[in-house]
Amino acid sequence: MQEIKKEKYISCKWLESGVCFDNGVYGSNVKLCCYMSAPGGGNSMIFEDYHGEKINWDNFFKIKNEYRNIQKSGQTVEGCRGCVFLEENEWPQIDYIDSIIFDHFTKCNCCCSYCYTEEDKKRYNSLKTYNIYPIIKDMFDKKIIKRGGAIGFGGGEPTILPEFEKLINLFLKNGFSNIRVPSSGIKYSPVIAKGISTGQLSVVVSVDSSSKEIYKKIKQTDKYETVCKNLKKYAKSQRGSYNVISKYIIIPEINDNTVEIDNWLKFNKDNNIGIIVIDIENSWLNRYRKEEPDKRIIDLMKYVAAKSKEMNFYRLEICDRAKYLI
Ligand code: SF4
Ligand code: SF4
Repeated sequence: MQEIKKEKYISCKWLESGVCFDNGVYGSNVKLCCYMSAPGGGNSMIFEDYHGEKINWDNFFKIKNEYRNIQKSGQTVEGCRGCVFLEENEWPQIDYIDSIIFDHFTKCNCCCSYCYTEEDKKRYNSLKTYNIYPIIKDMFDKKIIKRGGAIGFGGGEPTILPEFEKLINLFLKNGFSNIRVPSSGIKYSPVIAKGISTGQLSVVVSVDSSSKEIYKKIKQTDKYETVCKNLKKYAKSQRGSYNVISKYIIIPEINDNTVEIDNWLKFNKDNNIGIIVIDIENSWLNRYRKEEPDKRIIDLMKYVAAKSKEMNFYRLEICDRAKYLI
């Protein structure tokens, strides 16, 4: 077997072998990644104004190599300035993709009060998307996609994409094992259950509550029981307890109390959901950076951390943006 040449320099896995199909605030584009919180702002384009056209992969990798060459020269791609994902490594010098973020859709079957789509729900729910399956199939046919990276989604609700089942089946069939699907949980997806049962896929559902009333206040829809039913069904498909992930975003004055949290923890424990995620609503975080912190919210996060240990959950994940608070 021919040895793959490697070179040591500072780069990141997305810049080297990732791609993000995006359609949102900045239009419909193909980018290096979906991270925009780096001081440089991310948003490094491969193709702008892209709407599902057939991709010339030579051209695609030519552009990616221009970014790579900046890193190899010791400089930093403007959008990547200060990004936490930059690291010195021995990077393989071949053209391939192993990590994809599907963020080319914005339509959702839920209405979370904290979602970016809330600024204009009607527009985001009617924004046109394109068929991504033929592009990914072409990547497989041309052998430019490899296992080993991460397959993820932004959006939007992935399960309501007409191609969703077919797309995930393609990754499952080709042995991809790090597929993470955030979902409202309102629509049950057989292919999610299939991926969970083989251990190749994890679903993340932000329930944010443990009662119909609070759920409705946050989600502006009456689907609490449907979501719980689907979560239970997904959890039953697991081999272990690590492929269904339950999330709770603390929203001040809405779900910031220990009763709601205790019942959420109990639901997860009772249903063999071993990984839980805790986060804080964006607007609180933005306020916190300028004003005196509301200590109660931080204490609540510490409460979840202590309780999850006591209840012996497999893992508590604290979202990066809230990690530094506790
Ligand atoms: S912004 Fe960060 S994650 Fe995105 S390509 Fe640049 S270094 Fe990688
Ligand atoms: S489920 Fe996700 S995409 Fe849908 S409204 Fe909630 S946060 Fe937004």
